[in-house]
Amino acid sequence: MRQNKGKTKRVPTIFDIINLREKDILNTIRKFSKNPNRCPYCGSTKVVKFGKLRTDDIKIQRYYCKECHRTFNELSGTPLEGVHSIKNALLVAYFKLELKCSDYAISKALDIPYPTVRYLSNKINNNTKFFKSLLVLIRSATSL
Ligand SMILES: [Zn+2]
Repeated sequence: MRQNKGKTKRVPTIFDIINLREKDILNTIRKFSKNPNRCPYCGSTKVVKFGKLRTDDIKIQRYYCKECHRTFNELSGTPLEGVHSIKNALLVAYFKLELKCSDYAISKALDIPYPTVRYLSNKINNNTKFFKSLLVLIRSATSL
């Protein structure tokens, strides 16, 4: 079989993703989302670091806009904004985009409530390119 010129895009296996920590995924996301130097609400560049949001495994950088006085975080404005578990989002993306599973099958396979799968599935539909790139990046981050 002939390979494409340039880089070969590989996708992760389920084991690659299952073994990942949220922290690893966040670090991968950071590689292609630069630190925000602009407020997503008003576009001002007067933003400063403003503590961190903590979950069990990860710390998400928060920012404060000195212009409009709103806060946001490093996932604001990305398709992962508002997502509770980045890992679940990635798992749903994998089952949906790579394995072509239905939302119902994904809900059963991963034991994630159907409404949550629907919510993530909609995000993935609207940002297919982002999630495909994320899966490719995860693969390159996990294969040594
Ligand atoms: Zn602002």
